[in-house]
Amino acid sequence: MFAQPQTYPCPKCNEIINDAMEKCPYCAAPVDRQVAATAAESQSEVNQAVSDASYLKTAAFLMWVFLGLSFISVIPVVGWAFIFTFVVVLVMIIRWQIKFGGVKTNDPDYPHAKRNRNLALVLLLAAFVAFIVRQLLVEIILSRI
Ligand SMILES: [Zn+2]
Repeated sequence: MFAQPQTYPCPKCNEIINDAMEKCPYCAAPVDRQVAATAAESQSEVNQAVSDASYLKTAAFLMWVFLGLSFISVIPVVGWAFIFTFVVVLVMIIRWQIKFGGVKTNDPDYPHAKRNRNLALVLLLAAFVAFIVRQLLVEIILSRI
């Protein structure tokens, strides 16, 4: 099996190197295959956490687009699209938390991924409140007609 060289941060100087190298080009620390494999694995987990969090943020914004549209549109499908994206975002947040919530890394991208997750969570809670308020307003308006 010809595996692609996997990139990972050098355990000594934290520069991104790959396991096809004999030693780190930055600090000349020898590349330990076992350490490299473990580090590459955790690096790919971090990369996954970063890209999932980025999808999560996009989905949360999309959810707000549908919510916004449902305020100005009476087409029921828009409301359903909002509820669908709401559930998707909720599931994605829980899944992200289970898979990546406890990842131990000093990768600078990981805190960024966590911020995206927090942003998605705030957008989700705010959307929930906005949706409830909207439903109440609709009922009040309808009861006065
Ligand atoms: Zn190094």
